[in-house]
Amino acid sequence: THFGFKTVAEDEKAKLVHDVFEHVASRYDLMNDLMSGGLHRAWKQSMIDWLNPPRGERAFAHIDVAGGTGDIAFRILDRAGPNTHVTVCDINRHMLGVGQDRAEAQEHSGRVEFVCGDAERLPFPDRSFDAYTIAFGIRNVTHIEKALADAYRVLKPGGHFLCLEFSQVAVPGLDAIYDAYSFRAIPQMGKWVTGDGEPYQYLVESIRRFPPQEKFKSMIEAAGFARVQYRNLTGGVAAIHSGWRL
Ligand code: SAM
Repeated sequence: THFGFKTVAEDEKAKLVHDVFEHVASRYDLMNDLMSGGLHRAWKQSMIDWLNPPRGERAFAHIDVAGGTGDIAFRILDRAGPNTHVTVCDINRHMLGVGQDRAEAQEHSGRVEFVCGDAERLPFPDRSFDAYTIAFGIRNVTHIEKALADAYRVLKPGGHFLCLEFSQVAVPGLDAIYDAYSFRAIPQMGKWVTGDGEPYQYLVESIRRFPPQEKFKSMIEAAGFARVQYRNLTGGVAAIHSGWRL
């Protein structure tokens, strides 16, 4: 960014990201299952295990950023006690609309809220939430540092930050298989299911550009978080990073 103006590349990225998710909103969960071979379910469950929302009566204000169709929010609510409230924040209204319809179809509607907003400047006051999650979202944000700084801002002291994201495969041999799979198979699957392979090409490339585990850990620390740790999932195909606002 120069003097507060977005560069052309940044605008293009933001528009591309928007178009991808507008395009796939209704088939988004199906695509997730197809592309990850169902693994995203186990990965999300690991993040929720780490979060460990209260099962009792304690009030718990949670925000799930880039929460799209509400998948993470519903998993948290299925598991948490009655005074847990989840705010799903996403930049794309189509994704949120799919989530809203789903919340109404389930018995979750009173405990979840869908809000349109940018991870880089969340529409919430400082120190609003007990915990913050972002799953497969931070990679799409234009300035990762700004999203991390805003995560810190909206968390209460003692608040927990958790991020699930594709990461760098740490197992020799698996990396070559993974490359072949993601560069060829994923755009092809995207084309079959949604009629257009190009957005998926973008997604695969964005995974390659995302900082590896240790680098991302230091970025989270630079945003002010303490006790930053990560866990690899499926040999590093994905990773969960955790940090605390103390
Ligand atoms: N968290 C959900 C899940 O794991 O199933 C959805 C992940 S989806 C791959 C990425 C989401 O990030 C999309 O819904 C997209 O609209 C959203 N997104 C992209 N850039 C964003 C931004 N700057 N702020 C908030 N959400 C954003």
